[in-house]
Amino acid sequence: MYATKRAASICATLLAVLATAPAAQADPEIIASIKPIHSLVAGVMEGDLAPKLVVEGAASPHTYSLRPSGARALGRADLIFWVGHNLEPFLEKPIKSLGTGATVVTLMDAPGVRTLAYREGTTFEGHDHAKDDHADEKHEESDHNDDDHDKHDDHADGDLDGHIWLDPVNAQAMVRAIADALITADPEHAPLYAANAQSMHERIEALSTEIDAILTPVRGQPFFVFHDAYHYMEQRYGLAAAGSITLTPDLSPGAGRIRDIRNKVRELGATCVFTEPQFPTSLVDVVTANTAAKTGLLDPLGTSLLAGPDLYFTLMRNMATAMRACLSRDG
Ligand SMILES: [Zn+2]
Repeated sequence: MYATKRAASICATLLAVLATAPAAQADPEIIASIKPIHSLVAGVMEGDLAPKLVVEGAASPHTYSLRPSGARALGRADLIFWVGHNLEPFLEKPIKSLGTGATVVTLMDAPGVRTLAYREGTTFEGHDHAKDDHADEKHEESDHNDDDHDKHDDHADGDLDGHIWLDPVNAQAMVRAIADALITADPEHAPLYAANAQSMHERIEALSTEIDAILTPVRGQPFFVFHDAYHYMEQRYGLAAAGSITLTPDLSPGAGRIRDIRNKVRELGATCVFTEPQFPTSLVDVVTANTAAKTGLLDPLGTSLLAGPDLYFTLMRNMATAMRACLSRDG
């Protein structure tokens, strides 16, 4: 009886401790929009908790719909990392309505992140073609080619290309911004975040050197992509994308466009047409029929990879390797 009373009193003390402890030092809830961004955040947080991920599976952020689990995570979040409305338009309203208690870090606006406009021209039109009226541009005359995809109109901010992580120098700038935000939200772990950010910076530097060596032999080889996602990588490593099959990732191209692109593949002697995991390979087969072009697969979101700190590095290395294999004349 005595022992029981004593046990009860210990239990009461424990309960009191348990009730106060989590409130006193609750870890902040951190969430990230897409896998590549989640990977950079997870790298800076390694050794602490893992951030939560919003866009899972093979879905494209251009056309994603927020699930109930994602909405709940946003509602609980203290810190939200996303690229911005150019890439994850589905998050714009929920962040405003659900993420009211959170600090929102728009990485597209982070210091040191260099942004590019979506491309237009003979075969490169913007993602959100519907709101512009460039429908006639694909019928421009044949003296267009090489310079066309570097030519931009006076774009509003909304037309900036959101695939910023595909330039490792941007990834380094994002790591700095991520570390700064984490240190402010969770100063207790500041030394860990700072050390991780430094080591991520160095790993990304080494990764970029490695990618440069992989891609140097295939610089300037013309190729086509499924959607205009690779501008940042092309600029960094001197690659020569000639156009994209889709105007917007959520719309299938019409028969006329497929024919135009197949002609273009022939005319340029393009070595490769790249598809992506979300998109039907049948369309790529139609584009490459009766041409010498090979096909390759690029996965700029890392949809097939396990989320975590290493995903970013595997994703970039896989893309460089796939490009090298498909663009090599002798492969
Ligand atoms: Zn995209």
